[in-house]
Amino acid sequence: MGDSLELIGADVRACRLCKLCETRTRGVPGEGSPNAEILFIGEGPGFNEDQQGRPFVGAAGQLLTEMLGVIGVRREEVFITNVVRCRPPGNRDPLPDELAACDVYTQRQIALLDPKVIVTLGRYSMARFIGQGAMRDLHGRTREWNGITCLAMYHPAAILRTPTVEMRRMYADDFRKIPPLLAETRQRRAAAAAQEATLQAAAASRADQLPLF
Ligand code: URA
Repeated sequence: MGDSLELIGADVRACRLCKLCETRTRGVPGEGSPNAEILFIGEGPGFNEDQQGRPFVGAAGQLLTEMLGVIGVRREEVFITNVVRCRPPGNRDPLPDELAACDVYTQRQIALLDPKVIVTLGRYSMARFIGQGAMRDLHGRTREWNGITCLAMYHPAAILRTPTVEMRRMYADDFRKIPPLLAETRQRRAAAAAQEATLQAAAASRADQLPLF
């Protein structure tokens, strides 16, 4: 049987790949549209997410939803997940072995969704898809990864911790980068598909012209 988002959800809820399973209330696989072109990847479930089994349902989630509104995107249109899918006790940082264990679900979700843009929220997700460095230097920067445009952003909780007008404006400006990146990636993929179709047609026509023995 092929993989599916439902199967990944069931696997995450029953997962015992790292010790976070011992303290979680619920695993939080992620949620959103199976046709999402934009994948948001945060850090890990907090208290509310652990209780409800859904990502970004607390104050940080409200800010994420608000920022999506700035670019005219509804939460239901995107997919939202985390680099670890069970709550680290006391909201501590995820550990390397926990990040490594949970990466299998990230890979399965990416393989199924085939997103055009991955937006990393926070430093752990940024380190996975964009690289190491200070968030103040890297936010708003992109990196191509397997044909996907990855965009680094602050975690919404970090914006809530520094509630200045400048910080909000900077965050909204980073979100405004998403639509043009999505348009570019769509175009790039369409051009690659057209080129592939031309090559296939040329190969088929060469095969047609081969003498029959
Ligand atoms: N913070 C995260 O990184 N992820 C969530 O799901 C909620 C808060």
